[in-house]
Amino acid sequence: MDVIYVDNNATTRVAPEVIEEMLPYFGDLYGNPSSMHTFGGTVGRKVREAREKVAHLIGALPEEIVFTGCGTESDNTAINAAIESNPGKKHIVATRVEHPAVKNLFEHLSKKGYRTTFIPVDHQGRLDIDALEKSLTDDTAIVSIMWANNETGVMFPIEEITQRVRERGIVFHTDAVQTVGKIPVDVKKAGVDMLSLSGHKIHAPKGIAALYVRKGVKFTPFLIGGHQERGRRGGTENVSSIIGMGKACELAVDHLKEQAGRVKTLRDRLESGLLKGTPKALINGDREHRLPNTTSISFEYVEGESILLMMDRLGICASSGSACTSGSLEPSHVLRAMGVPFTAAHGSIRFSLSVYNTEKEIDFIIKELPPIIAKLREISPFWKPEIPS
Ligand code: PLP
Repeated sequence: MDVIYVDNNATTRVAPEVIEEMLPYFGDLYGNPSSMHTFGGTVGRKVREAREKVAHLIGALPEEIVFTGCGTESDNTAINAAIESNPGKKHIVATRVEHPAVKNLFEHLSKKGYRTTFIPVDHQGRLDIDALEKSLTDDTAIVSIMWANNETGVMFPIEEITQRVRERGIVFHTDAVQTVGKIPVDVKKAGVDMLSLSGHKIHAPKGIAALYVRKGVKFTPFLIGGHQERGRRGGTENVSSIIGMGKACELAVDHLKEQAGRVKTLRDRLESGLLKGTPKALINGDREHRLPNTTSISFEYVEGESILLMMDRLGICASSGSACTSGSLEPSHVLRAMGVPFTAAHGSIRFSLSVYNTEKEIDFIIKELPPIIAKLREISPFWKPEIPS
């Protein structure tokens, strides 16, 4: 059975070009990039090249890139750097729809005495910017707001937000783990102080990521150790993965047009095909300001997990907007923050495409999914056929 992979916001396949670029560094080229000898120096040069490629993708300077182990580490590093560098400030701001990499750290910090504000979103997942502005005080150490949401793909107006935060002299971090590689990102234009990105979302391997730290921003390392990453992240570099991430960023530059064109067209085709084929299906989130590859669709009166299991039998890989915690199916905090009704939040499915998807795959989903929903509704205690569409 062929796999139809439409779960690219969870992780992506490693591009063959990336694997090819990495392989020598698992074999003959095993030197330490910090070594004085030529053998290590050759590896060091490749790491420098990779740093330049990552910087180029987001309009940064190479020395503004710190390699980390994952997007979560980048987010944690940024937030910790800001609070450690501003020890007198005890207020931190994020949104209600952040990824757990930010949300759960904020909840942890609130137990340690920090005052946290989570800015609300409206029913389309759009940020209440006035509420954000009102929340800022002289005590605010950092504002951390994601650029694009991993579940709905909804994008926040980062330039506008940054401007309002930075004119107050407050450090601004954005989690751009889902944004980089899908739309053009220019850190200088966006005016952010720090930005997180992650390799496995852009066809590099898992276990490699980066944090952009604007030159001049006060920084305290999270991992304290050797001089690597200019003293900003101790530990011998994950050389092969860094080189792979460099290659993935180079490919991402080439793929940006395809994301905005072919990938978006496929996403729109999937969306309209499924909406046409299924009554009581609705899109979650602002359709205008959205990543080109993502759609979150709620199929009312069915459970997302059941849909996923039925799709899995056909080789279709997607995600649901609920998490199975201790036996109870809790709708995601993102959909809850948007006020998506219970009957819809439970039946939400996220499809996230990549440049590797084809029209044939999308048409297969459009053909196979509506009968699955119909079958599940037949056995749903909540579904009544007379419910108007
Ligand atoms: N932030 C967002 C928006 C994400 O979607 C993810 C992963 O899904 C992360 C952070 C965490 O990245 P990583 O899996 O590399 O730790």
